[in-house]
Amino acid sequence: MVRQASPLTELSVQYVKGVGPSRAKQLGRLGIATVEELLLAVPRRYEDRTQFVSIAQLIPGRLATIRGALRAKHFLRSRGGRPLVQADVSDHSGTVQCLWFNQSYLVQQLAIGEELILYGKVEPLGRRLQMIHPELERVEPAGEDSADGEGGEAALHMGRIVPIYPLTSGMGQRWFRRLIHTVLTQHLDQLDEVLPEPVRVQQRLRPRRWAVQQVHFPSTWEELDEARRGLVFEELFLMQLRLAIRRAKLAARRKPQRYQIDGPLRLALLKQLPFTLTKSQQHVLEELVDDLQQPAPMLRLLQGDVGCGKTAVAAAVMAVAVQSGYQVALMAPTELLAEQHGRLLAGYFEPLGVKTTVLSNRIPAASRQPLLGAIADGTISIVVGTHALIERGVSFQQLALVVIDEQHKFGVAQRTALIKKSAMPDVLVMTATPIPRTLALSLYGDLTCSTITELPPGRQPVRTLLQPESARQDIYRLIREELRAGRQGYVVYPRIESKEEQDVKAATHMARQLQQIVFPDCRVALLHGQMRTEEQARVMQAFVQGDVQLLVSTVIVEVGLDVPNATIMLIEHPERFGLAQLHQLRGRIGRGTHPATCLVLSAPVEESVEQRLSAFVSTTDGFRLAEYDLAFRGPGELLGRRQHGWVDFRVADLAKDQAVLETAREAAFALVAGDPSLAAAEPTAPKGRGSR
Ligand code: ADP
Ligand code: MG
Repeated sequence: MVRQASPLTELSVQYVKGVGPSRAKQLGRLGIATVEELLLAVPRRYEDRTQFVSIAQLIPGRLATIRGALRAKHFLRSRGGRPLVQADVSDHSGTVQCLWFNQSYLVQQLAIGEELILYGKVEPLGRRLQMIHPELERVEPAGEDSADGEGGEAALHMGRIVPIYPLTSGMGQRWFRRLIHTVLTQHLDQLDEVLPEPVRVQQRLRPRRWAVQQVHFPSTWEELDEARRGLVFEELFLMQLRLAIRRAKLAARRKPQRYQIDGPLRLALLKQLPFTLTKSQQHVLEELVDDLQQPAPMLRLLQGDVGCGKTAVAAAVMAVAVQSGYQVALMAPTELLAEQHGRLLAGYFEPLGVKTTVLSNRIPAASRQPLLGAIADGTISIVVGTHALIERGVSFQQLALVVIDEQHKFGVAQRTALIKKSAMPDVLVMTATPIPRTLALSLYGDLTCSTITELPPGRQPVRTLLQPESARQDIYRLIREELRAGRQGYVVYPRIESKEEQDVKAATHMARQLQQIVFPDCRVALLHGQMRTEEQARVMQAFVQGDVQLLVSTVIVEVGLDVPNATIMLIEHPERFGLAQLHQLRGRIGRGTHPATCLVLSAPVEESVEQRLSAFVSTTDGFRLAEYDLAFRGPGELLGRRQHGWVDFRVADLAKDQAVLETAREAAFALVAGDPSLAAAEPTAPKGRGSR
């Protein structure tokens, strides 16, 4: 039989038996548009249905899969009025009670006596057992499934290691499982290898077709492991190959700029600093300067926890560029941070005769044109700004060095746009979000990396206290004591996209209340993103100068702000923040030599949030928090939505697959090193969600 030679990467799922337009749309929501994507839609977990645990053997607190018959069902309402279905499920050994919220249709759908498979956490309920909101699969549902009549159907769902897929509403496990079975039968033999054969052999990986088959319907747990490892390797290898090629291309480039390394400006700047650089800062500075001397442009990531002093290092590198006759651009994610950097750099550089400016949307149109002129003709050496820098009207005379602060807040496009302002600038990106190595290798695998490993001397770890609402007065007392002692503080309210108005009001409302009722004798001010830029700058300036003692704000203060006299922070509704964000917020205090306290005020919350908050309280080590976040919330939450697409893999899990990633990276870089022609032309690498 001759088959149509359309590659599976282009064959729409609609060509699979049983998939019509509406099913195709549903699959689309799962990111599955082609047959190949369907084949690679791996299960999120598996159940061993060769044998079930009997109900009598269930252990409270553990996850379990049981099989039993429905004995009773009731429709109820919870105290909050939510519809609730309660059911008793029994096997030969006992009975477990099940509860489902907001799924009242189950009462009609399930028939007394029918066989169910349930998966969930077992909780004690007096002397009995309960499963709250277990996943449910009907063993022989009437209608759809039994009508199928396909041979061996039952063997897909029972008596084997059974795959459980991530689905979207309107899809059942059984339907999807059958679909996968169909697509394997119809198309597996058209699936091509993607790994170069020598790599696959060297890594002792079995054929791709075998791995795909096994990852869906494994014969044994061992074979599943092997199959999964192969697919993970493949996915990560392709990502690393792209990075290796990119790196090799970059290394082959020759930049026009030549630097004078040991000029007077760098020395003068270091003298200008109110401190001496730590060993770690010095070391990193040397790495950066060394990059500048290389014939290829620098592309380096400077990592370092909040408050470690990345800005001073950046300033010293800028001095090298400026003394060599070049211009520098520094991009920051918020106006507030841009202003702060602008002030700082002006303070360092203007006394040395170097012109700096902040390009912000605060600048009136009249003075904007001359400013742009001074940037274009090279009069101004250091230009600081937000993404306003990448606007079309901005051009430089000789831009040699681009610095991007808090780079995780920018999208790839913005970063590239700034870099394109010059032919081949040296690029330094900085981030205070320490990320686990797997993420770093995925996101920045084509960058070289420097890390500032120590904090400046005299820093004390911020004390973090999780407090209940009932402690509010004590918290206020603590804040008052700090302010009386001459220190300053922040009170932070979350910002949620959809209800932004409401939250701004919360901050606004609280600012008034805190000023009038709680701290009438202190100077309180409000800061949020919907205030006019000038107003924001004015308030921030007053806070920097100490005129404002307590700043009530939204998450706008999250990144970069540096007011070392601020020693106390109250975070309200901490459950609305991710760990990385909480860590950044807390990084606003404890930046000087005074001890600092972060108060986290939390109402009772669900268990996962509670765990997150106690992780936050337990350590000030951003790196550990990031690993925790990666494991529990995934890379999307950790990095913010912006970069999610970069690390959204089909098969690989960055929290688990570090070892495979390291191997894949090694293999990919070795391949490119051994075959320079690879870097000469971009290969037509398969599209993956991890692609950039
Ligand atoms: P981050 O790395 O988070 O961007 P900053 O560059 O804003 O941190 O520095 C944080 C604070 O530490 C600033 O107030 C800065 O002046 C101070 N600082 C930086 N380096 C040193 C140092 N070597 N000794 C003392 N203080 C320093
Ligand atoms: Mg910073």
